[in-house]
Amino acid sequence: METEKEAQELEEPPGCSHTQPPHPWEAIPITSWRDWRWQLAHRLSGVEELGKVVRLTSEEVEGLSAPGRFRVEVTPYFASLMDPDDPACPIRRQVIPTRDELAPYNAEMADSLAEDSHSPVPGLVHRYPDRVLMLVTTQCASYCRYCTRSRLVGNPAAQFGRKTYDAQIEYIAHTPQIRDVLLSGGDPLTLPQSVLEDILRRLRAIDHVEVVRIGTRVPIFLPMRITPELTGMLRKYHPLWINVHTNHPKEITPEVRQALAQLADAGIPLGNQSVLLAGVNDCPNVMKDLVHALVKNRVRPYYIYQCDMVQGAGHFRTPVSVGTEIIESLRGHTSGFAVPTFVIDAPHGGGKIPVMPNYLLSQSLDHVVVRNYQGFITAYAQPDTYDRHDPSRCPSCLRGLPSGKQESQSVAALLSGKQPAIRLAEEVGTHPAIRTTMLEANMVVPSGTNGHSR
Ligand code: SF4
Repeated sequence: METEKEAQELEEPPGCSHTQPPHPWEAIPITSWRDWRWQLAHRLSGVEELGKVVRLTSEEVEGLSAPGRFRVEVTPYFASLMDPDDPACPIRRQVIPTRDELAPYNAEMADSLAEDSHSPVPGLVHRYPDRVLMLVTTQCASYCRYCTRSRLVGNPAAQFGRKTYDAQIEYIAHTPQIRDVLLSGGDPLTLPQSVLEDILRRLRAIDHVEVVRIGTRVPIFLPMRITPELTGMLRKYHPLWINVHTNHPKEITPEVRQALAQLADAGIPLGNQSVLLAGVNDCPNVMKDLVHALVKNRVRPYYIYQCDMVQGAGHFRTPVSVGTEIIESLRGHTSGFAVPTFVIDAPHGGGKIPVMPNYLLSQSLDHVVVRNYQGFITAYAQPDTYDRHDPSRCPSCLRGLPSGKQESQSVAALLSGKQPAIRLAEEVGTHPAIRTTMLEANMVVPSGTNGHSR
């Protein structure tokens, strides 16, 4: 049973007054409070500023005072959602460091996804055959304490710029198998609108780029940034998809609902990515509240990520079983489209690997044995006859996969008989997908390490 205060928070979180900013910003004109530029200019950082909003614990003071810690900035809007008296507040835990952030742990890495070694040009990660991740900024509206890219995000001196974009776009233009470009960073919606539009326009001019996606937490940290001018610009570059990043239902405020509605009304399909975080959302009921709040706002729950093994995030990590238990509590218990995929983004650049409860219990030539969410076990009879798909008469098969070279290195290739085995180790060097593209584009292939080419 939720307490009366918790129930009230879910319905009417702090910070949602339409006449006056919340405490301690009452003296600020409401027009300033609703202005995203004012919000960015008045972000809270150190002990003194954050101490005016919440009663900081000694653990938080220690985390905030640590030299060289990952950047701290919190928009006043997001800070207004924090419980001033509860250090376990899920909003507060996401953006205020504690001394736990300073504790090293065994498996931690600076670049836990090996993105740097899959980058043919700075800021462009080419891990999958047909899509790339294009990092366009190092800046965010606020900074998450568990950020996977804390090695490069938040450094005002390491900003991407026109030269980087030119190299990234040149690589994409020379790589016909890339059909999907994901803009991320940092947060692309913190870029000046003209800069973002220039990137979108140039990507749209490349014939083989079919889809552009933006990964952003701005609608959550700074919902007032979603203006009619911004959505009017974005809608010119369809098909454009946006993935937001929410972790807890408390983040779905009236302001966020309005921002999401504006994006959806601009025809932008919306998805959500959550990171599974100890003390924030490691609870089936919290996650169910979150996915329900998302679908009510036209956002499809897309991924739940197992927390990466990134430096500073050890205290947020959960056992993997917490994620599978959450999926077990969602699948069958709510609408199928409200159930995200739980993934481990594999260390060393293995990409996203889905992890789920086992529903296929056994199989023979005649039957497969499956179970549902209630534990009901049944046999599905295999067909007596099956007219196999004929690839020689199939236009899609005859056309061939544009990413044929990479497709030959996969479990799917083993099943189709195109490949006899997968080697456990490759030569040390540049990822084959990148190497091939760079050689074809007459670019210099860097030497060095990585070899994550399985
Ligand atoms: S918004 Fe994304 S990139 Fe920025 S700090 Fe949070 S997780 Fe990292």
